[in-house]
Amino acid sequence: MKKVLITGAAGFLGSHLCDRFIKEGFHVIAMDNLITGDLKNIEHLFPLEQFEFYHHDVTKFVHVPGKLDYILHFASPASPIDYLKIPIETLKVGSLGTLNLLGLAKEKKATILVASTSEVYGDPLVHPQNEEYYGNVSPIGPRGVYDEAKRFMESITMAYHRFHGVDTRIVRIFNTYGSRMRLNDGRVVPAFMGQALRGEDLTVFGDGSQTRSFCYIDDQVEGIYRLLFSEYTDPINIGNPHETTIKEFAEEIIKLTGTHQKIVYKPLPQDDPMQRQPDISRAKEILDWEPKVARSQGLKIVYDYFKSLPTAVLQRKAH
Ligand code: NAD
Ligand code: UDP
Repeated sequence: MKKVLITGAAGFLGSHLCDRFIKEGFHVIAMDNLITGDLKNIEHLFPLEQFEFYHHDVTKFVHVPGKLDYILHFASPASPIDYLKIPIETLKVGSLGTLNLLGLAKEKKATILVASTSEVYGDPLVHPQNEEYYGNVSPIGPRGVYDEAKRFMESITMAYHRFHGVDTRIVRIFNTYGSRMRLNDGRVVPAFMGQALRGEDLTVFGDGSQTRSFCYIDDQVEGIYRLLFSEYTDPINIGNPHETTIKEFAEEIIKLTGTHQKIVYKPLPQDDPMQRQPDISRAKEILDWEPKVARSQGLKIVYDYFKSLPTAVLQRKAH
């Protein structure tokens, strides 16, 4: 049985990856320090013999006994309110954490896939963003702690590939949504849905003309899975190119949820990117991948999920 280590396994993306690799017949070692994750996301896997959980901070030396075939490094705060609250931890997990996992991949001769982000493009001057674009990031702005950690992650991953011959993959993930996101993590999908469910007004930051392109979790997991088993070592964008302004998106959520609340406008956070849309030509060509789930369909599934949560969880607001 092939063995895979998944870091950030108790988080949103990591837990869905655990499900997929279990389903594909892998032995899964899930690792997390629970700083933004929740064991509830993976507790259904605990009874399985092919599943193990290590409560561990990957910025500390990472040891896994025996053979290891694959590593998926997904540990990192991912929501702006999380990484602005724990900036040093964010920098450390992208830098020291990635270094530790690359070292482990080298020792075990394992293939490693690291979770990068559309944030490496910063507030992009090229639209849509293709993988050749170097980005427009402020290293000293508040979001720099996340963006630069991920840019460092990509550099050190390529260095381990070029200098140590480690088999590496880099996925640049664009905004992804689905079940198991924390309703109070501040990201726009749970934020708007939580507000609608609590009967609050929807908070649009700035004038809402900034754009995002939202990818459903199952499409994202499929893209990541295909990338791991490709032989492609340069970065690949995985996301849904269907772009919307945040104001239109708020209106879409109002319609979907049937809430009678209105939109209220709040200040735009510093360095909030104005435009974001993935160019997925490379993923189409190399991985024969493109998203299959329409936004209307995916949002409905996620709304039903949030609606099913206990009232106490629904009442928790973002900080
Ligand atoms: P998440 O916060 O739900 O999950 C991250 C997990 O990493 C959490 O369980 C957290 O406890 C764990 N973690 C953080 N620091 C750790 C450490 N030092 N040691 C061990 N575990 C640690 O976030 P997510 O949305 O699932 O994102 C997962 C990965 O995907 C991140 O690397 C993120 O940068 C990347 N990503 C996500 C998106 C998205 O839209 N969801 C977009 C771009 C990139
Ligand atoms: N946003 C918003 N209201 C909210 C939360 C977010 O208008 O309550 C905006 C945010 O300013 C950004 C977009 O929605 O322009 C997406 O934000 P998110 O935090 O989900 O992701 P990111 O900025 O990392 O793409």
